[in-house]
Amino acid sequence: MPGSFPGRSAEPQALTSADPMLERDLLVLVVEDEPLARLSIRTALTREGFSVLEAESGEESLVHFDRVPSPDVVILDIGLPGLDGFQVCQRIRSKREDTAILMLTARADPSDKITGLTLGADDYIVKPFNPGELVARIRAVLRRSAQRTPSLEPLDFGELHLDVQTQKAFKGGVDVNLSPREFALLAALIRHSGQVMSRDQLGREVWGETRNGSARALDVFVCKLRDKIEDDPSNPTCIRTVRGMGYVCG
Ligand code: CA
Repeated sequence: MPGSFPGRSAEPQALTSADPMLERDLLVLVVEDEPLARLSIRTALTREGFSVLEAESGEESLVHFDRVPSPDVVILDIGLPGLDGFQVCQRIRSKREDTAILMLTARADPSDKITGLTLGADDYIVKPFNPGELVARIRAVLRRSAQRTPSLEPLDFGELHLDVQTQKAFKGGVDVNLSPREFALLAALIRHSGQVMSRDQLGREVWGETRNGSARALDVFVCKLRDKIEDDPSNPTCIRTVRGMGYVCG
């Protein structure tokens, strides 16, 4: 039963009360057939300010994904009657990609971990665990998923205004017609304005990875972008080249 033993899985990251995740009222669904285990998890999470829903079977848990708001996080036991945790994980992933899933198991069997992660779980914790460790692991998973989902807030730089939701960029109120890759490049530079970004860093923002030849391709994108947004593309003031390092906005 959870509650009294130190965790046996990987060390959780240290957390402070300045964690931005604390400011949101996050909804956690606990899927576990043992009532005492559910209670122990609920108590630990409620104390930390999470809103908690419970389900005692996989079938019951899936109903919550047809409702609004659907859970931000699922604590999913593998050993369940009926649909097991792996099957539930797969079904949740087919409905929602952005829900964080943390699987619980009674066995320290590495094949469980591999199966869970392959089916789309974000992390895995072995019973018995300390409730404090569970909370730390949830926050770590949420931070990682927040980093995967860039903010949808608009971006502004000088005369430029980027509407991240519609992926449109405007200069002095006029649409500058950027392609999706040009938009991603400009958004990355404005998000990090004042910081020099290497071609590798920018390549990851634009293509999601660094590929052979991407540095040269990136230079081509920067040229096209300057033609669209700079007053004088041969003397750029918005996207400046930092020789030997990369590019900087501002
Ligand atoms: Ca169980």
